[in-house]
Amino acid sequence: MEYKKNDLLTVTIEDMGHDGEGIGKVDGYTVFVKDTVIGDKVQAKIMKAKKNYGYARLVEIMEPSKDRVEPRCAYARQCGGCQIQALSYEKQLAYKQQKIENNLIRIGGFQKEEIPMQPIIGMEDPYHYRNKAQFPVGCDKEGHLIAGFYAGRTHSIISNRKCYLGVEVNEQILNLVLAHMEAYDIPAYDETTGKGLVRHVLIRYGFQSKEIMVCLVVNGSRIPGAEDLIAKLREIPGMTSISLNVNQEKTNVILGKELINLWGEGHITDYIGAVQYRISPLSFYQVNPVQTERLYGTALEYAGLTGNETVWDLYCGIGTISLFLAQNAKQVYGVEIVPQAIDDARENARLNHMENVEFFVGKAEEVLPEQYERNQIYADVIVVDPPRKGCDEKCLETIVKMSPNRVVYVSCNSSTLARDVKYLEERGYRTERVRCVDMFPHSGHVETVVKLKKW
Ligand code: SAH
Repeated sequence: MEYKKNDLLTVTIEDMGHDGEGIGKVDGYTVFVKDTVIGDKVQAKIMKAKKNYGYARLVEIMEPSKDRVEPRCAYARQCGGCQIQALSYEKQLAYKQQKIENNLIRIGGFQKEEIPMQPIIGMEDPYHYRNKAQFPVGCDKEGHLIAGFYAGRTHSIISNRKCYLGVEVNEQILNLVLAHMEAYDIPAYDETTGKGLVRHVLIRYGFQSKEIMVCLVVNGSRIPGAEDLIAKLREIPGMTSISLNVNQEKTNVILGKELINLWGEGHITDYIGAVQYRISPLSFYQVNPVQTERLYGTALEYAGLTGNETVWDLYCGIGTISLFLAQNAKQVYGVEIVPQAIDDARENARLNHMENVEFFVGKAEEVLPEQYERNQIYADVIVVDPPRKGCDEKCLETIVKMSPNRVVYVSCNSSTLARDVKYLEERGYRTERVRCVDMFPHSGHVETVVKLKKW
């Protein structure tokens, strides 16, 4: 059966796509329906039809799935942030683990019984977990200042200062900033004209240190009444850093390169476990610190360190995993392509007085082979945490040549994970453990850690 645009059909949702959209089948024709969850029976209207599949809009839920829940946030459907809030958290976790299993079977060539899967690590309270929020500021139709979020896939701002994924103090800060803008007649930036001043409010919060950073992204280099704004923000307990970020480009990119410090040292500090990190408005830092500690904890457990090992941490970013491992290793080497990230990594190593870590700037698939051929480098354990496209084959090839006893693979994309695990399995490694960690509750994303052992 083939369908065309505007056709109405009744479909039962059986699966979920990458962005949390529901997937169902009618007479062999696959339909993707946003805002549905597995188990829903819905009426949907085809918006875009291809030969064997189409994208449809939800018209009516005829029979709700038994796993459907009332989303806590009234904007869950409009917002681009949460895709699966309408699915019970327990089922979100089950679905995520299932997705990894399916890819290991389909792409990795595993039998279901063979997968040494440990139970997924979810959150006890899957709300208010984000330590970073970036609220766009704009105007509504009546010209009132608003702050909120972009409606899914667009740039129209929906007013909402109370996001359930962020920390509660965000709302208080936004209220204060918007009141200040009103009092001083400060215009919000307008994306279409390129005029106006305030573009975004960036807020970061240290979950362990309780330090708060506020950074206003502005289309200019000053803010009227800055002293007054600083005085008001400083009344919030934990306020540590107040700054401006200059962004005068007509672009979707939120942050510009230049920072102007208004008050404080220009950064906050936070901890993951016992390791301290310095975070500036421009630094990359994991957004869910509670689950990050569990993710790195799992990687550390799988690495099986006793204090005598030499470890390579490939795709190391700002060295978060490297420093975590360095606590229990003889020597850790990190490799990362972005030079600024390596600056942060070295700074963080100094901050923690860790002398057993060394960082290299470059591509993992170039640095590792070069070091191996030139210096005959050695590893007991190699940890990789690549971007979505997975490891380059040259990198995997060198890992096999170096022949470490253990490889710990941390991944945000289970398709490329399964592909790379298969490569290693075919060349002398055995998968000993697999565990998923839910870093982003209410979204379709999941992180996975795999332990491979040489046999
Ligand atoms: N392990 C880090 C970050 C992992 S994200 C953490 O937990 O914080 C993946 C990282 O790989 C990014 O920092 C990205 O800049 C880097 N990267 C991308 N391609 C790379 C390559 N070919 N070689 C080395 N690093 C790369």
